[in-house]
Amino acid sequence: AKADGKGAYHFFEAALDEAASRRRQLELDMRETLRTGGFELHFQPLFSLAQQRIKGFEALMRWNHPVRGPVSPAEFIPLAEETGMIVPLGEWALMEACHQAASWPQAVSVAVNISPRQFASPALGQAVVRALAASGLPPARLELEITESIFIGNVERTVAMLHSLRALGVRVALDDFGTGYSSLSYLRSFPFDKLKIDQSFVRDLGRDASAQAIVRAIATLAGALGMETLAEGVEIQTHADVLRAEGCDMIQGYLISRPVPADAVPGLLGEVTAL
Ligand code: C2E
Ligand code: CA
Ligand code: CA
Ligand code: CA
Repeated sequence: AKADGKGAYHFFEAALDEAASRRRQLELDMRETLRTGGFELHFQPLFSLAQQRIKGFEALMRWNHPVRGPVSPAEFIPLAEETGMIVPLGEWALMEACHQAASWPQAVSVAVNISPRQFASPALGQAVVRALAASGLPPARLELEITESIFIGNVERTVAMLHSLRALGVRVALDDFGTGYSSLSYLRSFPFDKLKIDQSFVRDLGRDASAQAIVRAIATLAGALGMETLAEGVEIQTHADVLRAEGCDMIQGYLISRPVPADAVPGLLGEVTAL
């Protein structure tokens, strides 16, 4: 407002105002959607190469905005994270995922993404306990997916939190493995149940020898540490073949199935049996 007659300044300021108000509106819409029950979870199979069956599903949030249409989680999750909305939104996702999974066969589990801010909230443990109690889902059928970024800051607190979640009987997976930094020190500080190899490594399999060497090294390391490995973003049969040859335990991706609405889960369980 100090830019007397400076057109460019006004233009810049107006653009910033517009971006800010768009975000504010999206935030208000998110709050309203949560209140009126307009968020949805879709589920994507986690397929075991050894057992040749679907062992679980990852819950992925979907938002069909009444005006804008589908908003990508890549857009609204970071915004929810910044504004703190991710805490109630994440609690809803936990509750909803556990309720859905309770109706699946006993050998099928559910994986729920936990954002860094949600992980930092002291309310997380209670939210997990409540979701398990309300749904009746056995804790061993719930897996929490966290990313390396939770280790930034207080590592001791993070490790203590991971141990207390584990003590509830739930499983813990490290998501997007290989995209952060100094990953190996985290593996020493906490024994994850599963490492999810990021799709950026999977994409280049069959074309790029170094991607394959990295996958092999991760599978060997994980095996030695007693952790399962799952490769994300598996789109073609070649990827699955290489991953199996390199000792990766599980795969997830469009080759098996895209994420589907809850009512399509029973059908997938009957349909996807071998690869
Ligand atoms: P993510 O946890 O790494 O989830 C995997 C993403 O890869 C999903 O994107 C999934 O639809 C996509 N994907 C699966 N298979 C393939 C494939 O074969 N090829 C390709 N190109 N992509 C594949 P989506 O559903 O758009 O979610 C994006 C991100 O948003 C997730 O990444 C996660 O970080 C976040 N997110 C989604 N739902 C939740 C949630 O309930 N809570 C939190 N905290 N984050 C969530
Ligand atoms: Ca995930
Ligand atoms: Ca991931
Ligand atoms: Ca990701």
